[in-house]
Amino acid sequence: MSNTETKEATYKPTSPNSKLDFESVWEYAPAPQDSDFAEVKDRYELFIGGKFVKPSKGRYFKSTNPATEEEITEFAEATQKDIDKAVKAARKAYEGEWSRISAKERGKYIYRIARMLQERAREFAVLESMDGGKPIRESRDVDIPLVAAYFFYYAGWADKLEYAFPGKKPVPYGVCGQIIPWNFPLLMLAWKIAPALATGNTVVLKPAETTSLTALKFAELVKDCGLPDGVINIVTGAGQTGAEIVNHQDIDKIAFTGSTNVGKIIQKSLAGTDKKYTLELGGKGALVIFEDAPIDQAVEGIINAIYFNQGHVCCAGSRLLVQEGVADKVIQKLKDRLETLIVGDPLDKNTDVGAINSKEQFETVNKYLELGVEEGADIYQAKCSIPENGYFIRPTLFTNVSQSNRVVQEEIFGPVLTVQTFRTADEGIDKANNTPYGLANGVWTDKGSKIFKVGSKMRSGVVWANTYNKFDPTSPFGGYKESGVGREGGMHGLAAYIRN
Ligand code: NAP
Ligand code: MG
Repeated sequence: MSNTETKEATYKPTSPNSKLDFESVWEYAPAPQDSDFAEVKDRYELFIGGKFVKPSKGRYFKSTNPATEEEITEFAEATQKDIDKAVKAARKAYEGEWSRISAKERGKYIYRIARMLQERAREFAVLESMDGGKPIRESRDVDIPLVAAYFFYYAGWADKLEYAFPGKKPVPYGVCGQIIPWNFPLLMLAWKIAPALATGNTVVLKPAETTSLTALKFAELVKDCGLPDGVINIVTGAGQTGAEIVNHQDIDKIAFTGSTNVGKIIQKSLAGTDKKYTLELGGKGALVIFEDAPIDQAVEGIINAIYFNQGHVCCAGSRLLVQEGVADKVIQKLKDRLETLIVGDPLDKNTDVGAINSKEQFETVNKYLELGVEEGADIYQAKCSIPENGYFIRPTLFTNVSQSNRVVQEEIFGPVLTVQTFRTADEGIDKANNTPYGLANGVWTDKGSKIFKVGSKMRSGVVWANTYNKFDPTSPFGGYKESGVGREGGMHGLAAYIRN
């Protein structure tokens, strides 16, 4: 009997009202992405003044693949002396060639970076997935295309700044220190470097400890593209390296993306100094689903809001608020949909949910899972199989939670959703706003007027309507309250890199 015949024999037609039946019809054969072509060196040095240089103290730290727990390479640890060297290189470039060339030429370099990123897109996507655990489908279709799009977008502004700021003569800050997290490593680099260069600044950037690989590959690309030495410097290391950047006397502006806790430390160290800063911090986004919402679309939106990138998304929609009349239906459909998610090898093209970025984050998320149960919530996890090795967590829902529960209040930064209900629009808005954060929220309803009413009362930098986690270089992004200071993206993102 052939394979097809076996499947036909076991296929049971389902009624139109029942959930979609995939399992008895299709099976997924592994679809591995080839990774051999993506070269990873045994060791990466610091990128300072256009050269790869050894760290002054000769110390290196290992980087692992979170899906296999295998070490993939090692990175140099930059200490104070190295940061000083990088800042001097950035200053020299700023005062030298970079300020002398025309804005049009500056733009051409940024266009060249964008095109080279596109040419090597698959390689960057593979390395991003290997180093950080995100599914190849996401790094290939979301991260890397957006990285190129941000460089293209800001390249276009380089020689048109007077149109962005009419009546002003835009002046760059000078040397910018930039510190980024591990959830969208190359994309966060693009958000930082592209507008800084377009406005004529030079940069010293530190990627996160667990995901420095694509930043160093990017440094190789920068070297190949002929950008003047010292315009972009990439230094690797842990939190202390970041602190050395923040505290360096000759840096004009700090751009930080990361946790609210570290953001507060940075804000304190910058208080009373002349340095400018932007802080893009944590979040605890709410998804407000009204009874008149297109329910299937809303369920897809929820999946995209919280399980995209394993929930390692600052603007993740981690609190579901659903209107009472449709709560049971939404929760049931959500549970059904959870069962269809494929969790596993990030380099398999079928994978929906990859590996948790690091052992540390894996432990943090697991602690929150225990905490939720201790707080009295009901836990529901997809029944899917997960690989034996590596840091994997099943997509999770907590129902029966209250507003004061820590799992509802604190940023978990993993594939964990809490579910609450509301009756009136005002109650939904109040619950959505009842958080120290204010980065992004989502609203699902059939009525445009309700979108405007609810959206305008939500205290968050972004409100998505009938969709979630959509990014575009022309659109500003940033937070209210403890989610940060300043905006990135769009023209607002340019303003963050010029003196007023
Ligand atoms: P994190 O611990 O705050 O780290 C962010 C970056 O800061 C890393 O490069 C880190 O280095 C460095 N760092 C740590 N301590 C430092 C210090 N005292 N001084 C200067 N730099 C220091 O955050 P994370 O865990 O990597 O990232 C997750 C957080 O980022 C979440 O809260 C998420 O919401 C937020 N996030 C926000 C946005 C946004 O746009 N609002 C976007 C993405 C992520 P090491 O990696 O070496 O520790
Ligand atoms: Mg890693």
